[in-house]
Amino acid sequence: MPIALIVELDAFLATLLCTGIALILALWLFYERRQAILTDNHRLSTLFHCIKCNLIYTRRRRREHAPCPRCGFNNIRLRF
Ligand SMILES: [Zn+2]
Repeated sequence: MPIALIVELDAFLATLLCTGIALILALWLFYERRQAILTDNHRLSTLFHCIKCNLIYTRRRRREHAPCPRCGFNNIRLRF
């Protein structure tokens, strides 16, 4: 005797709708968190301009002095 799986259309559509909404919310949270991490990494870096060799470079985190990667001269950070 075959067992027939009977699912009402309303329940099926409700499940489909809830799954779709949950998927969209999960993707939204994932990309929102990812964007916040990427923005923080970019925002927390400090910009320097070497007055000896004219190189512009960045360093992670906030700091006042950083040596130039090209010539080694110790520069202070740029302020705007
Ligand atoms: Zn330099």
